[in-house]
Amino acid sequence: MKRTKKITILIDPGHGGQDPGSIGHRGLKEKEITLKIAIQLKKLLDKDKLFNAVLTRNNDSYLSLKKRKNFLKYQNVNLLLSIHVDSSQKSYVSGISIWIVSNNRMHREINNFIKNKKEKIYFYKNIEDIFKNNKNDIYLKKTILDLQFNNFQAMEIKLSSCIFQEFKKIIKVNKIKPNYASLGILSSINTPSILIETGFITNFEEEKKLKTIAYQKKIANTIYASLKNYFQNKSTSVF
Ligand SMILES: [Zn+2]
Repeated sequence: MKRTKKITILIDPGHGGQDPGSIGHRGLKEKEITLKIAIQLKKLLDKDKLFNAVLTRNNDSYLSLKKRKNFLKYQNVNLLLSIHVDSSQKSYVSGISIWIVSNNRMHREINNFIKNKKEKIYFYKNIEDIFKNNKNDIYLKKTILDLQFNNFQAMEIKLSSCIFQEFKKIIKVNKIKPNYASLGILSSINTPSILIETGFITNFEEEKKLKTIAYQKKIANTIYASLKNYFQNKSTSVF
């Protein structure tokens, strides 16, 4: 796929409204931090002519999973980036982690899509064209979606490694590989998706830092630098 336009990043600040997410020992709410980091990140991406950033929410409102995922049905999004803050019973646990969708979950989503003819999801143009010309060939459709998923997963792993490299400069990084999960927000069959847990709200030190604008900006800068690193090296193709 030739890149003729900007790379669109859909930033999804976790939780919101009546859903505060995790809460720190000093009362800091996850929904506030995810929103602040997301707004900072959007600012940075919008200043860069390589990117176009969209937010699933830009205020303290509640959004269902369906509403968050609707952005991916109709918009041409190149990457979904969901931002969260982790929590643990053990207050000494700290650090960032990245999550991507599990193979099982994605294969289930692809099978459901192929069986359910009514559901309309938009794919990249080259894939839409093949689907249009082969309307009833479900085996071909499944093969193409499986191949696309393999590409998405390879991209998610590479991008995760770029993100870990950048975060290593500012925070303790325990693992440099993403984890796999069956998470609804990561399970769109037409968009590569990753979820970043930007620290532990239940760790006293991280809660203290996460509360400050300076640290929220630092996290946004770090994510931005990794996206820039990853995408600017992909000179002609998005994937
Ligand atoms: Zn969360």
